[in-house]
Amino acid sequence: MESAQENLNRYLEMETILNRFFGIFDFCLKGCVLPELERNGNQPFAACCKDKYYKVYDLDHPSFDLLRKEREALYGKPEDVKESSLVSPCEYHTNTGCTLPTHKSPICLAFMCRKSIDALRDGHGIYTYDYLGFNYALEWILTGDMSLADYAEFRQSCLDMITTLEAESGQAC
Ligand code: SF4
Ligand code: SF4
Repeated sequence: MESAQENLNRYLEMETILNRFFGIFDFCLKGCVLPELERNGNQPFAACCKDKYYKVYDLDHPSFDLLRKEREALYGKPEDVKESSLVSPCEYHTNTGCTLPTHKSPICLAFMCRKSIDALRDGHGIYTYDYLGFNYALEWILTGDMSLADYAEFRQSCLDMITTLEAESGQAC
């Protein structure tokens, strides 16, 4: 049986891959945040961070405890975040967005709203991103309920999405 640390290490590897994917896709800033700031006169807003998602869907499990412990060691406890914005109940949300570059909870890492999923489908022909499915997959990686074979397949499917985006933008893999 894998340890909580081994499960977390795989989860963090997936977070690195997904952060790369979202960085290349780059829809939230260009397709949501900047247009809304232009519309509302540069007022900070919460977009989809409208609850304390860093914990509301977390499971009572040692791997989730370890994720939280490492997050708080790196970025502080929620109540200690000084730049929290009042536009969101989430203390990790600041006027420039989420202050957690890593160690997000599965729902925070996986979430894509309908318009961003549509942009991925219509703009890039990628139909494999189902945010609830990704949320559960990330949960299972973290709890150790996903087999190593399924993990390898899931990891490869995410790398394939990156390859598709990079091929479109002409970047080297
Ligand atoms: S997931 Fe959707 S609502 Fe949230 S920031 Fe991205 S585009 Fe905006
Ligand atoms: S932790 Fe970050 S992504 Fe999650 S709800 Fe808070 S600001 Fe949003």
